[in-house]
This record gives sequence, structure tokens and C-alpha cells, in this order.
Amino acid sequence: MDAAYYPFSVGGIACAVLLDGASLLGKEGILRRYPDATEAEFRQAFAEIGRSLDDADSAFNLLLIEHDGERILVDAGEGGKPKGGGVIESLRLAGLSPDGITQVILTHTHRDHVLGLLTHDDQPVFPNARYLLSRTEMAYWRGRVQQGIVDDSAILAMLDAQGVRLIEMDAPILPGLTTIPLPGHTPGQIGLRLEAQGETLLHLADALHQPFQFAHPEWSPTFDLDTSVSVPTRREALARAADDHAVTLCYHLTFPGLGRVKRAGTAFAWDKL
Ligand SMILES: [Zn+2]
Repeated sequence: MDAAYYPFSVGGIACAVLLDGASLLGKEGILRRYPDATEAEFRQAFAEIGRSLDDADSAFNLLLIEHDGERILVDAGEGGKPKGGGVIESLRLAGLSPDGITQVILTHTHRDHVLGLLTHDDQPVFPNARYLLSRTEMAYWRGRVQQGIVDDSAILAMLDAQGVRLIEMDAPILPGLTTIPLPGHTPGQIGLRLEAQGETLLHLADALHQPFQFAHPEWSPTFDLDTSVSVPTRREALARAADDHAVTLCYHLTFPGLGRVKRAGTAFAWDKL
């Protein structure tokens, strides 16, 4: 199981990226998930950023923020069902245990972000946490559970029992910490903006999944629910990250998924930290 811990700070606020897991997608994984380009175009796009299509990967990067008396985890990984599950070991590497997490913010409710909330026998992994997600995302999630599209009723029951706070998509959370709307991948996806002492961190969640999307923000994965929304969301989020010169976190980029976005022609480029 993959586990790793990458500490950093934003204006004196202690943060870290905790790896929950990583997997190799390779050529087959990219071609199956991304219908907007050909193998030759993907090979060229990866070559232009010094990578290989055959080594394409996907990580689960969980953000930890220690701020204002709270220890906040952003998303919970996949809990080893079947991927991920490394967050417990990654927390241990950081000198922490799951019962020290006071809040879990869910950027959205896809299973690689929420299955890690419960153990294999449906107990809460973070027994002292309260939970926060957007009102729009919760409505979308409950609808999918009611329609039988996903079987997440045990997670919803746990959230209801432990306490869940539903917020608007651009809401203040703590001093310096606000959510930002990132609709399209799911209707209620949120990212985060943390600002302190002139430094900015942007968490872009699943607004972008692969490094070729900086140069080609119009190429979307099949699991973007509505690409007529997700593509403009991606462009706006990347423009904001570039113009703010923000340290930027992308949940699925190679661990730790941190870097800075810069403008490149009509698209973008990525300087990883
Ligand atoms: Zn995801």
C-alpha cells in the first residue's frame, strides 16, 4: 500500500499532502478514460511535458490543514475498496492518528474521495470528525443513492450521525479558508482557497486529473458529468491559479500533486514543486 507525507506551509499555516494511494494507468487507462484525443496526440502531449503516455498515473492526494484549532482533512481516499487506503499510514508518518482529525471536507462525492470514510466493517475511520460538503453535492449524492446508482447509504448514515454541515459552494469555512465552486465534474464540486500572510494555496480537487490538461484543458475524462461546464470551470480555475501565483494542489496528479500554474498561449503549463 502506498503511503507518504509531504509537509509544507502557507503563510505559517501547517499543511501536508497525505498519499492514500497511486496507480499506473498507462496507455490503456488514458485511452479508455479520455475520448477527446488520439493515441498519437496523447503521446505528443506527454512528450511535451517530459513524460510518457505509458507511465501515466493517478494518485489520491489528501490535503491536511492545521488551522484555528482544527485539524482538517480534505477528502478521504478510497479506503482500500479496492484502491487507496494508505491515509492511515500516511497520518502515522505525520505523527498523527485518525482520531485527531476534527473536520473532513469533501470536495465531491465520487467514491475515490468518500469510501475511505468507513472501515471495511462500516465503522467511522475518523471518529471525532464533523463533515462538510456543498448542499448541491449532497443533493446530487442522495439522489444517486436513492436511484441505486451508488450504494453509499452506510456512509450517509454515518455522516448524519456524526454531524454534517452543508454549505454554499463559495462559503467561508475558517479565517483565511474559503471554498470555491468547481462544477461540471459533479454538480456540487468545491475546491478550497487558503490565504495567509500574502501566500495562497488553491486546492482544485478534480477540476483537472492529468498533466496534459494544462496544455489541453478541453480534453475531459469520461467521468466529468457535464463537459459543457467542466471545461470552462477548468479554464477559469487554472487562470485564477496562474494569476494569483498560488501554490496549487490537484488531487489526482503524481504525489504530492503540488505546483504552480502559469499561462502558456491560450492554455497553461505546470511547474511542479
Ligand atoms: Zn477523483
